[in-house]
Amino acid sequence: MKKLTSLILALALAAGLSVPARAAVPETVSLRYHDEAALQYGPEVPAEVVNVFFNGAPMALDAPAVSQTVDGVDGRTMVPIRPIAEALGATVYWDGEARQVRIAAGTDRMVLTLGSPTAEVNGETVDLPGRVPAVVVRYGEVERTLVPLRFVSEQLHAQVDWDNEAFAAMVTAVVEPPDPDAPPRGRLTRLTADDNAQTITLSLSSEPQYRVTDLGDRVVIDLMGVVIGSGGDGILCPENPVVSQIRYAQHGSDINPRENYVTRVVLDLARGCTYGENVTVTGDADLQAVIISVTPPETGAELPTLPENWDPNAYIVALDAGHGGSANGAVYEDVSEKDITLPVTLRAAELLKEKGYNVVLTRNEDVYMDLYDRCNVANNVGADIFVSIHANASPTNLSFQGTFTYSYPNSVAGERLAGYIQKAVVAQTGSMDWGLLTNDYVVLRETVMPAALLEMGFMSCHEELERLIQPEYQEKVAQGVVNGVEGYLATLPRKTPKTAGAGGTLVPQGE
Ligand SMILES: [Zn+2]
Repeated sequence: MKKLTSLILALALAAGLSVPARAAVPETVSLRYHDEAALQYGPEVPAEVVNVFFNGAPMALDAPAVSQTVDGVDGRTMVPIRPIAEALGATVYWDGEARQVRIAAGTDRMVLTLGSPTAEVNGETVDLPGRVPAVVVRYGEVERTLVPLRFVSEQLHAQVDWDNEAFAAMVTAVVEPPDPDAPPRGRLTRLTADDNAQTITLSLSSEPQYRVTDLGDRVVIDLMGVVIGSGGDGILCPENPVVSQIRYAQHGSDINPRENYVTRVVLDLARGCTYGENVTVTGDADLQAVIISVTPPETGAELPTLPENWDPNAYIVALDAGHGGSANGAVYEDVSEKDITLPVTLRAAELLKEKGYNVVLTRNEDVYMDLYDRCNVANNVGADIFVSIHANASPTNLSFQGTFTYSYPNSVAGERLAGYIQKAVVAQTGSMDWGLLTNDYVVLRETVMPAALLEMGFMSCHEELERLIQPEYQEKVAQGVVNGVEGYLATLPRKTPKTAGAGGTLVPQGE
């Protein structure tokens, strides 16, 4: 191995790559380690940069690999997780709540908990070499999760040699051809595009292991160990502003020498769209799915403005039905929050119009809408007040029920508006009154007018969910919102709402 290493180095040097010939003074980089006990970053410290070679070539890393030492014991090479895992054919999942990195490759499973000196490998707890744990670091603005290079590589059947002169770690992947009789590990069961063209979901029968390749006008997603569920290769044309066509075909070791079965999914992108700008691919181990989220290119759609026949003397009320489209909000018992917020909002809009108010809606159908766009709609028409309508959920306490209303911290007008809404809704519905809260929500912060966010009730509580889906109950909530809006506006001096029929509803154009 030593000979090979030297040869590689000689080649690397001949190619003009910056590999130091001697390790007398390794390069250093400044970084901050995240302290998992204190849950904050420590001070900026220097760290020695380790050169990493993969199968003889300098490895393209998205942040420097560094040497780290715990308790003065010998240094361990820590490497950004994604490039090394991908090079070794593994899929990485990040569990933010558990502060865990989960690595899956073939039938191998590894769990590294940030700050923990042990790891779980295929269900067994093992000590990490030198007790150096996985860690999150910040290089300036860049945040990365670093894992012990040797440990992770060896668990994924690669060999790691250390070259002290080059201050380099040499990773050699040992590609073992699969047992030709090994069955597939999963099936591609469904390929669905949502109605709003925001997400395309590749549903599998197992935790997804995949690799994404950016080929410019197309994106390739290779699903490892996966066969196509039924019907064989195919083409799908979703109604999607970013992905014009999806092709899927069965492959095998021609794509990955470690696998008998690989399903290749190719996304042909619409003109002008790119992987970097318009497509995000994420694996969800629990959902057993690969989710392709798209961001349509800017269309320059006009925000609504007030038409000429609107009543200039009437207040403008902006109503915001929470979530929508691919954003379901809370989902309990097959009910999505977005499907409760919309009818309540539409009904409140109708009632307010009947009373002569100008009403502007951030959405009037089941479409996805960005939080900032919602604020822009209200800001652009100069709405007098903004009311966002949501339903709540408490996954940890399914008996919680009741109503509360948020305003932006220290917004006096916002709190007054929230107070009127809260009181009026509770008076109509008889729901449990949790009173007022404040929170730094985007829709409360970025709207320039007094704003309130109503949480009608808890979807996680079975009885309350039963109420929330009833049209009669929704009518009461809508009436409550209207009464609250009227109550608040009645305390303002400058506009007087006109008689019935003067109002209209405005929704964003180009949806
Ligand atoms: Zn919500």
